[in-house]
Amino acid sequence: MKTNSDSTTEVVFQGISGAPGLAFGPVYLWRKNKLIVPKHSGQNPAVELDRLNLALQAASSQLQGLSDQLAIEGHTAEAAVFLAHIELVNDRGLQRRVQTALASGTNVESIWDETVEKYAKQLEAMPDPTFALRAADLRDVSERVLRILMNEPVQVKALTQPSVVIAQDLTPSETVGLNKEFVLAFCTASGGPTSHTAILAKALCLPAVVSLGEKLMEVAIGTPLLVDGSKGTVTVSPDETTLKDFLSRSSQATALSKIELASAKLPATTQDGITFEIVANIGGEKDARSALEFGAEGVGLFRTEFVFLDRSSSPSDEEQLEAYRAVLREMGQRPVVIRTLDAGGDKELTYLEMPPEANPFLGERAIRLCLSRPELFKQQLRALLRAGAGHNLRIMFPMIATMAELRNAKALFEEARIEVLSMGYTLPESVQVGIMVEIPSTAIMADRFATEVDFFSIGTNDLTQYSLAADRTNPKVAYLNDHCHPAILRLIAQTTKAAHNAGIWVGVCGEMAGDPDAIPLLVGLGIDELSMSPGLIPHAKSLIRELNMKQAVSLAQDAMEKDSAAEVRECVRQQRSEI
Ligand code: PEP
Ligand code: MG
Repeated sequence: MKTNSDSTTEVVFQGISGAPGLAFGPVYLWRKNKLIVPKHSGQNPAVELDRLNLALQAASSQLQGLSDQLAIEGHTAEAAVFLAHIELVNDRGLQRRVQTALASGTNVESIWDETVEKYAKQLEAMPDPTFALRAADLRDVSERVLRILMNEPVQVKALTQPSVVIAQDLTPSETVGLNKEFVLAFCTASGGPTSHTAILAKALCLPAVVSLGEKLMEVAIGTPLLVDGSKGTVTVSPDETTLKDFLSRSSQATALSKIELASAKLPATTQDGITFEIVANIGGEKDARSALEFGAEGVGLFRTEFVFLDRSSSPSDEEQLEAYRAVLREMGQRPVVIRTLDAGGDKELTYLEMPPEANPFLGERAIRLCLSRPELFKQQLRALLRAGAGHNLRIMFPMIATMAELRNAKALFEEARIEVLSMGYTLPESVQVGIMVEIPSTAIMADRFATEVDFFSIGTNDLTQYSLAADRTNPKVAYLNDHCHPAILRLIAQTTKAAHNAGIWVGVCGEMAGDPDAIPLLVGLGIDELSMSPGLIPHAKSLIRELNMKQAVSLAQDAMEKDSAAEVRECVRQQRSEI
């Protein structure tokens, strides 16, 4: 937090960007009555279990009601959030854990609260940000169940004028009660860039700043606020100069994002006529739908972990088939890259009996786990092949480190193909098979790998953590995890050259692909396909349309000679300001 010397009242809070955009308006303070969960000895465990079952039923019908109401009002995406919450309410694995813990004789409110919290923490520890969102959903559901058990409703004052919503953090249940036509922006004291607040704001195309600190909650209701979602700043009581500058930037930005969205479905072609394929990273059917609205030309990464998580047993052939088919159906003939299971390490599947590891990121993760459980792997491959008939399916293996792993995975793929045929199902006409390049050994050996696959997709999230030896989930080493580091650029350049020499295409599906600083570099390095969160697509496309290939190539060459990620970013911004 810093005060402006020109003014006695203006105060600037620095947080983390949750969703881009600018807004100005009075504070609406969202503070709910805090729930204190009692801990004492309970009645007989069977009676306590009955109380929980009744509360779960009541929560389920509340959620169904909310979902129906939202669907009638046309808010299909939010309606789906509550349907997903019903699945969490019905999670048998979770209920079993609670039932076991009730044997201790403690009251069910406390057991439920502790069991859910433990599970939510496990989800939060996973590197993929979408799991943190699932943890937030789980806590939201848990609070609904607790309020029913404790007979304590939420009290909220209605939002009646356009306002900036300030809250500690916001859950889906809380935001559904907000009159969104009056929300100008969201600002939260806690939460991270992947919290529900940030995701919701992106979906509603509203700015959001998260992690602003506890002092934020002391700002009085009605105080004027300026929100800069891209910079992650909030200015309290701005002075006249700040306000003037803000209003002029805001009207420019609004005009620009309207233009970007209007042309989102057009190709991303540079000034000198080179077109890049812009596709989406998704976790399921719902994301696929929104990806198309934002102009995605296909899917560059479908993380299939979602199909396997939050369950007490492995998904059946038919469940997997339906999950993959739903996405392929949504995408029609567009290309869809589906990544085989990337579990293990810290993405624990309780039903697989995975022993704890000292260094989970360097352990039996992704393809390593699948190769050690060939039946699990082949079951997924069969479901993918069956779902792919009539579509443009591309299958991708994660975390490939050696040629032997690739060959073993391909051999199992061939076995699965023969099994599908012998079961009498139709196979897709052709399926491209590729690998993620996310381990330095694979980038270095890219020339060898390129002769045995149809494509590469560079996973810059892991490639950066492994190259700089910095755990991507550890905030203490976050300063090292910058994908713009020249070492990463060099690995990408080497991988791209190898791919093109062998006549195959190469994409990037890590967060780097949607980073405005990185996009000119990736274009200059000759990447063919960029895959990112759907909401980032319109801006990425418009950035590419401003580029000139020759300049981008020379920018990328210069960047690789820099000493640090900070220098690389500076170099890109310098060039952008000259355009
Ligand atoms: C990556 O590592 O860049 C990637 C896209 O995979 P994930 O983030 O799911 O590990
Ligand atoms: Mg990865």
